[in-house]
Amino acid sequence: MEGCIFCKIASGEVQGLRVFEDEQTLAFMDIAKDVDGHILVIPKKHVKSILDCDSETLFAVAHTMKTVSNHLTENCGYEGVNLLNASGERAGQSVQHLHIHIIPRKRGDGIDAWPKFNGAKEDLKEIYARVKL
Ligand code: AMP
Ligand code: ZN
Repeated sequence: MEGCIFCKIASGEVQGLRVFEDEQTLAFMDIAKDVDGHILVIPKKHVKSILDCDSETLFAVAHTMKTVSNHLTENCGYEGVNLLNASGERAGQSVQHLHIHIIPRKRGDGIDAWPKFNGAKEDLKEIYARVKL
């Protein structure tokens, strides 16, 4: 999509540090410099978020997430990964092209990748009745 930074990285128009790619997906280094080894996995085609992503593309993204995560833990000295995604602006998505963050983890790394929530406000069974498929 015109003007989309991740489409430009996928096509090579903008340079990215490409960790892994296949026909449908790309993994590249996040430039945030917030944690060591922060990697993003994207579909090469423009999909806004998980909410409008077709199953085949999502499967390809998941497969690449696993390939990169296994590589990090088997060959790069990491012991685990956190996988993070924001879908929708209200969820904190800032780049409007689907991306999964891979945060590689090591014992004692001091990273807080799992937010401490404030506590639920609604009754569990009432929510359950609303969300159950
Ligand atoms: P989110 O807030 O979940 O939408 O995350 C967007 C991520 O994209 C942030 O972690 C940014 O650091 C990252 N980002 C933005 N522009 C670039 C870029 N040109 N290359 C690599 N990562 C980027
Ligand atoms: Zn895009």
